[in-house]
Amino acid sequence: MGLITMPKFMNQAINDEILDKMSLKNRYSFVNNNLMAILTPEQFNYLKKVQKFCMRFEKKNEITHGPEEDVYDWVPAFGAEGYITRAHNFEMIDVVYEHYGAVADFLRYLAVDNFDPQFAMGSGATVLAINPVVEHHDNISERLEALKDMVTGKAPGCICITEPERGSDAVHQLTTCEEQEDGSYILNGEKIYNTNAPKSKWAVVYATAEENNGNLMAQFLVNTTWDGWKCERVGIPYVDKLYLGHEFFENLRVPKEYILGPVGKGREHLFEGLVPERIGIACGAIAQCWGAVSHAAIYANMRRQFDQEILKFQGVGFLLTDLWAKTTNLTLGLLKFCEAYDDKMEKFEGKIPANISRAMVASASQFKYHCTNLSKQICYEAANLMGGAGLSDNTLMHDYVNISRIQEIVGGSRQIQQYIMSMALRQLFKML
Ligand SMILES: Cc1cc2nc3c(=O)[nH]c(=O)nc-3n(C[C@H](O)[C@H](O)[C@H](O)COP(=O)(O)OP(=O)(O)OC[C@H]3O[C@@H](n4cnc5c(N)ncnc54)[C@H](O)[C@@H]3O)c2cc1C
Repeated sequence: MGLITMPKFMNQAINDEILDKMSLKNRYSFVNNNLMAILTPEQFNYLKKVQKFCMRFEKKNEITHGPEEDVYDWVPAFGAEGYITRAHNFEMIDVVYEHYGAVADFLRYLAVDNFDPQFAMGSGATVLAINPVVEHHDNISERLEALKDMVTGKAPGCICITEPERGSDAVHQLTTCEEQEDGSYILNGEKIYNTNAPKSKWAVVYATAEENNGNLMAQFLVNTTWDGWKCERVGIPYVDKLYLGHEFFENLRVPKEYILGPVGKGREHLFEGLVPERIGIACGAIAQCWGAVSHAAIYANMRRQFDQEILKFQGVGFLLTDLWAKTTNLTLGLLKFCEAYDDKMEKFEGKIPANISRAMVASASQFKYHCTNLSKQICYEAANLMGGAGLSDNTLMHDYVNISRIQEIVGGSRQIQQYIMSMALRQLFKML
């Protein structure tokens, strides 16, 4: 039947012609025709390069996106191309890219998410472990080795902030760290919901010298093969291909080479990672919107009911235009933010001044809040426009519906973003 990939589903509910038309190649074309006028030629060519890699990878490996596939098997191939992250250039480990920065990473995420949303989210979690090591490697070989493993796809990474009893309240942690005479630390405590943890070689872990004391937090790089690290998988059915962990630290010793932030520096390091994390989640959410809209736009142009393409019924066509317009507009906003971020990083040589950085914290929360909220709406409504087909396992639509329902929680819940924004409004008022 001429499909680009071999479908792997329980039963074919969508006819050959429509299923064929919803190929990755055509969904990319749909996205590209929308972004062609918006992106610079350089940005556009880079996007197409990532897309080409994903299409070839899908075809060569006969990826079906079916339930039996392990998305972690794909990490080495994407890492080798530099498609786990493009947020930075990694001169310190001799990994240098032509395209890097917030815009490059947004476009990478867009292409990879259209290929497979759960795989893209898993890579995003590795990036959360990469970023602190980029900031605090201090040219120490043990840290550089970990960085190289994660950036080049040799091993996934994870970040361990959340605890069973401390979620949103991430600065009052119960996991403790106790300094030893030789400068190492002993960690005791529990973490939970850490994306990739059961599959990770490296983890970035926060702990505190005194329970509930945010001023005494520290940040550690941990090799998950060390004694004292125990990890069980947590089931999150919305992202059933991802491995999330519940970790138990029992006298886990961290040698001094692996201390990214000593006691007193942990909270600062935690906050420093939040802008890129929230922008990354916003990019993922917008990529999901494009994935959902591209499926629905192709489907509604082909599916016939009452002897007409369903797009021609206003109930379908007008709703689809609403989803499409909102996705396009928020993409523009996010792209503008990413461009501004890259400009500032270049201008201030990677150290953005505190006043600009504070303004970016508010923007990052606004985008995280707005994009994840939109994704939840768009993925559901786009699937709804596809009727039973949108809920079946024949396409990635069920993945989009599911994944869009967790993005408001990860990286700080909706209410926490609102809380941050309300504090920013207070600051703005005080500046009058
Ligand atoms: C799929 C998935 C992946 C994740 N990945 C990671 C990861 O890689 N690393 C990691 O460390 N964590 C990860 N998390 C954890 C995630 O960051 C937390 O679940 C999140 O911060 C919320 O914490 P909680 O679940 O304890 O909820 P709680 O903090 O208990 O919140 C419960 C409810 O109360 C609300 N609430 C709490 N405090 C306030 C307040 N002050 N004002 C208003 N409302 C409030 C929340 O908005 C929420 O609706 C992940 C979670 C999921 C589901």
